[in-house]
Amino acid sequence: MRADGTSSLRDWLRSDLSASEVPWLAASVTTLFQSGPPGSKITLAVVGDGFGPRDQEVYNTAVDRMLTNGVFDHDFFREHRAAFNLERVNLVSMESGVGTKAYDADGNMVQQIDRDTALGVYYNGDWAHCWTEDGPSTAARLASALSELVPEHTLVMVVLNSPGRDGCGGNWRATVPLGMSWQTVAHEFGHAMGALGDEYHQENKTFGGTEPEEPNLTAKTDRETLKWGWAVRAGTPLPTGGDDYTPPKPSDWNDSQHVGLFEGGHGAYRLGVYRPVVNCRMRSNDPPFCPVCARVMETVLAKHRDAAPVSGTGLGETTTPLPESAGTGYVRLVVRLEQGVLRVLEAREFDGPFVETGLVTQGFAHEVRIGDRRVALGSLPDAGISRGFSEIGTDGPREHVVHRPDAFDFVVRVASAELRGADLSQLTVDLVSVGAGRGDALGEVPLREDPALDVTPIASLADLSLADLPMSLRRIVEPE
Ligand SMILES: [Zn+2]
Repeated sequence: MRADGTSSLRDWLRSDLSASEVPWLAASVTTLFQSGPPGSKITLAVVGDGFGPRDQEVYNTAVDRMLTNGVFDHDFFREHRAAFNLERVNLVSMESGVGTKAYDADGNMVQQIDRDTALGVYYNGDWAHCWTEDGPSTAARLASALSELVPEHTLVMVVLNSPGRDGCGGNWRATVPLGMSWQTVAHEFGHAMGALGDEYHQENKTFGGTEPEEPNLTAKTDRETLKWGWAVRAGTPLPTGGDDYTPPKPSDWNDSQHVGLFEGGHGAYRLGVYRPVVNCRMRSNDPPFCPVCARVMETVLAKHRDAAPVSGTGLGETTTPLPESAGTGYVRLVVRLEQGVLRVLEAREFDGPFVETGLVTQGFAHEVRIGDRRVALGSLPDAGISRGFSEIGTDGPREHVVHRPDAFDFVVRVASAELRGADLSQLTVDLVSVGAGRGDALGEVPLREDPALDVTPIASLADLSLADLPMSLRRIVEPE
């Protein structure tokens, strides 16, 4: 598919659209690096919008600057590059630059300039509107391109041909203009993959909530129960300071790597909430992750990093045993939550191994069962969120504007062997919200009933009839 992706995509689109409606002039995909079979890695698909025939080098250079030579060539993500595959999709837009919208102070749109681009994304430069926004057919066009060119992907980054410095993230996708630095992208990956909290504070508010769920924020000051107590040296006073170590600061103190309890964080709060270090990537983007954030990210990525690398003939040595089902293939299900109802949108079968971390951290999590058997389980730290983010200005990072859309899609992977011939009336899909409790040792009870976790059921799909399921899934379960 790689070699002839361009033509097959256009042929495929023509089956549905007339030639004049194909939204791009050409499409191709380039593997920038591949660490292993797509199902076993976190595959990041990068797609450009508003890059015309003469702009492709500008796009390629931006992808290299932000990712290949940016995020994946520095500290934590360089060390964990083996957890990722990076695929660059070149969609050639009819016009150069993306459309723009402008809003007045009351949030009314006062100007809209359209451009005929591959994805039809707009840059609005407005904090309250997540800086960028999709056009009416953006989601469908993006899905079409990815379905053909990078069907197995975990994360999507859309790069806009716009000079702006602000972007919008959430739900496994980030949309960024050309003015975005790799450091800010790396900070956003901390939210998207690790559900890390912001360690900066913009306002002088006092935090009055209960213990924050984020693993790198706390409202507690007791050494015995501190959630990152493992990282604090015995002689370090708690609390340790505010914006900096309360003097006298030890001469060997490293502001991003030596851990204590520093007041201020969670975006807005100068008082009443604490972070682990003076300055972490989750505070000002530039430094590496602090040890507390790095450990969370490490936990999330370890299985992907250690899974079978690619070798000349297929799978190479494995450093982590792959599940029994590895090699027999798996099914990638796209599930949609809409108005409180879950629906399986599509199913697609892939060869090769897949890796499921089996981790349940705070935020959304999903479980798929067939009868009494659990066949899929995982966290969805970036689901159901829309998060605006900015390059740091002269007065520090700007607080994220967060929306929680009531409809979103998420991906579930299930071993083909589990689904083949299964009784689909016994299939259940649960979406839950998990509090701070971690499911390191999950029992056999359904996730939604697990007493060890602070679980709130969100939606459930059960008592299915075949007619409720897409034909793509029925064909996999009951092959002719
Ligand atoms: Zn941190």
